[in-house]
Amino acid sequence: MIGVTLLGATGSIGVSTLDVLARHADRFQAVALTANRDAERLAEQCRQHRPKFAVMADADAAMRLRDLLADMPQRPEILSGVEGLEQVAALPEVDYVMAAIVGAAGLRPTLAAARAGKRVLLANKESLVVAGALLMEAVAESGAELLPIDSEHNAIFQCLPPNFTDGLPKVGVKRILLTASGGPLRDWPIERLSAVTPEQACAHPTWAMGRKISVDSATMMNKGLEVIEACWLFGTDTDHIQVVVHPQSVIHSLVQYEDGSVLAQLGNPDMRTPITHAMAWPERLDSGVAPLDLFAVARLDFQEPDLMRFPCLALAFEAARLGGTAPAVLNAANEIAVAAFLERQIDLPGIAAVVSETLQTLPNESVQGQGLEFLLDVDQRARDCAERLARERAI
Ligand code: NDP
Repeated sequence: MIGVTLLGATGSIGVSTLDVLARHADRFQAVALTANRDAERLAEQCRQHRPKFAVMADADAAMRLRDLLADMPQRPEILSGVEGLEQVAALPEVDYVMAAIVGAAGLRPTLAAARAGKRVLLANKESLVVAGALLMEAVAESGAELLPIDSEHNAIFQCLPPNFTDGLPKVGVKRILLTASGGPLRDWPIERLSAVTPEQACAHPTWAMGRKISVDSATMMNKGLEVIEACWLFGTDTDHIQVVVHPQSVIHSLVQYEDGSVLAQLGNPDMRTPITHAMAWPERLDSGVAPLDLFAVARLDFQEPDLMRFPCLALAFEAARLGGTAPAVLNAANEIAVAAFLERQIDLPGIAAVVSETLQTLPNESVQGQGLEFLLDVDQRARDCAERLARERAI
């Protein structure tokens, strides 16, 4: 049996992962499930999947979970706080850790899993954006496996040869073509973007996801974060990554080789495919996803991204080129701005404005030789700055 810790069990990726676990109960066992505040949902999941540990990041929610599970026979040990998350990410009986917490909050437990040499199934792209060097170093030192869950990165991983870690030029790769759906605002009149509501921004045409990543898809910051994630995962730079808008979300990304070949991975837009791929790798297992019907898809379209409409994508490319603390600042400012937009405190164009001004306000510092505490401090300073800027832009 393969022991699995599922960080972010109550979220969109978490629920899809539990579906995959349940389909292959003869192979995978949930050892620990975690959430932030949704004790009710985690309690239901604990009754169904019977983990040894359950962690609520929020201490009050952990008390609620204790009450909710009081009558459960062989109830899980209940932990709380980021220390609890780190503990279950590094348990000796755990082989795989699904990192599916949203935002920089996922960094410490993801790093703990990498340092403990686990197979890390990485959905939490923000960890790599904030602390790419640190995380990749931890993976190399401990011998952990880092497998991408983001559908695009999982597709790229599938299109690369096994020895891609020798360097992309060495294995004949010319560039990565990272696809993007363009989100719900791809054709929205540009002059009306300030009227977009959180509901409209979260109504993604092809993917059902959590609210933060849905807004990131609407602004295309998600693609920007993914560009930075791809640079770390595949050891490349922004000059070798092209973003391609592909509204049908059937091709999940492509790899272009020196000889003119372009390899792509296709599939229905359902996260259970990359989740199952990464859990079964190098084998293949049933994911429960319906087979792709190319006749129903009928056509595949491609466009260049419009950087006037999506300034967040340009900001992320810029932060990736700058390096240093810029990606961490970009991420923190974005998290604050997206939360403010979801609370209807700023309008949608305000997200890019807050991120851009935060990047201009804070100095870009080198991360060479710096540890986690330094990055967490940068993250906090960027959050404070972005909060002030968001208040100034309040609608
Ligand atoms: P959701 O918002 O649906 O779920 C987030 C999960 O993280 C929940 O379990 C939530 O708990 C938990 N959580 C939130 N804040 C904290 C915190 N401070 N400490 C500990 N746990 C916390 O997000 P998604 O599942 O959509 O996304 C998760 C990650 O996967 C993100 O990084 C996203 O970018 C990435 N991803 C998601 C995809 C998708 O299809 N959804 C596709 C590709 C990548 P609670 O329920 O208690 O709030």
